[in-house]
Amino acid sequence: MPQPLFSVEHLTKRYGSNTVVNDVSFDIAPGECLGVIGPNGAGKTTTIRMCLGLTTPDAGRIAYAPGNTAALEMPRDALAIKAQLGVVSQFDTLDPDFSCAENLLVYGRYFGLRDAAIRARTPQLLEFAALTHKANAKPGELSGGMKRRLSLARALVNDPRLLLLDEPTTGLDPQARHLMWERLQLLLQQGKSILLTTHFMDEAERLCSRLLVLDHGRKIAEGKPRDLIAQHLEPDVVEVYGQWALALAESVNHAALRALAARVEVSGETVFFYTQDAKPLLAALDVHGGLRTLHRPANLEDLFLKLTGRQIREDG
Ligand code: ADP
Repeated sequence: MPQPLFSVEHLTKRYGSNTVVNDVSFDIAPGECLGVIGPNGAGKTTTIRMCLGLTTPDAGRIAYAPGNTAALEMPRDALAIKAQLGVVSQFDTLDPDFSCAENLLVYGRYFGLRDAAIRARTPQLLEFAALTHKANAKPGELSGGMKRRLSLARALVNDPRLLLLDEPTTGLDPQARHLMWERLQLLLQQGKSILLTTHFMDEAERLCSRLLVLDHGRKIAEGKPRDLIAQHLEPDVVEVYGQWALALAESVNHAALRALAARVEVSGETVFFYTQDAKPLLAALDVHGGLRTLHRPANLEDLFLKLTGRQIREDG
C-alpha cells in the first residue's frame, strides 16, 4: 500500500463506562475510498467526529500526512488538518437564507479563501454538482439530491485531498443516488481519498476499495469487499420466501435439506441457505412445489448480517 494520507491508530473513546470506539486502527491511501460499515450504535459517527477533531479521543493517534510536509496530528494540528478536509455530514447544514452560489462563498470564507478565488471556482463547483441552473436558488427550492450535491460541492470549495462523508446518500431516490455515486467516482479518479459511512451495502460495494466493519466499537473485519465475501461466506445463496417459507424453516432441521447447505438462517419470512453448490439444493426444494426461491451469489449484505447478526439495533 502506498504511504497513507490519513492514519488512525488504536483510537478509543469512552462515554462513562461505555467504550463506544475500542482500539480502532485504519489507513487511507491517496485515491482510496474506505467504507466504514456497522449497525446503529457501532461507533461510526463517533469515529468520524474524532477524525474531524469534533470529539476528543481518550486514546489513540490520528495523523494526516500529505507527503510534502511533516505529518499533522489531531487534535494538535486540528486547524491545519481541517483546512485540507472536506466534510459532508449526515444532515444538510446549508444556510437556507443564501443561494447555492452564496452558500459556496460563505463556506469558502471559513477557510480564509478570498471572495474572488471562491467566485472563480463557483461555476466549476456548481457544474460538478449538476446545479449550474440553480446558482441563484436557495436550498429550500432544491430537491434532496440537489441539496446533498450542493453539500458535496461546498465540501470541495477548499480543494481537499480527503473527503469525510457520513451516509452521503441516505434519503435519496435511486436516480439521485446514482448521480452522487458517479460524482464520487469522479473525485476518486482525480486522486482524492474518501472516508465514507453507509448503511447501503450496494453503495459500499460499488464505491469502496476497502471496508472496515465495526460492531460495538470494535473493528471486526477489514478488507476488499469481494475478498471479505469470499473469506467469510459460501459463494451461493438460495432464499426461500413467501407463504410456505416459514413452514419450511421448521423443517430445515430435517437432515436432507440441511445437509445440502453449509448454513441456514431465518430472517423474518425468508429462509437463507448458504451453500457451495446450489444445484442439488434447488432440486430438493423443487420437490416441495410452490416455493418461491431466489438463487444469487453471496453479497455484502450477507457478510454484514453474518458478522453483526440479524437482530435489529435501535441504538447501541
Ligand atoms: P453509529 O454512528 O455507528 O450509529 P455512534 O458513534 O453514533 O454510532 O454511537 C456509538 C455509541 O456511542 C452509541 O451507543 C451512542 O449512544 C453512544 N454515544 C454517541 N455519542 C455520545 C455522547 N455524546 N454521549 C454519550 N454516548 C454517546
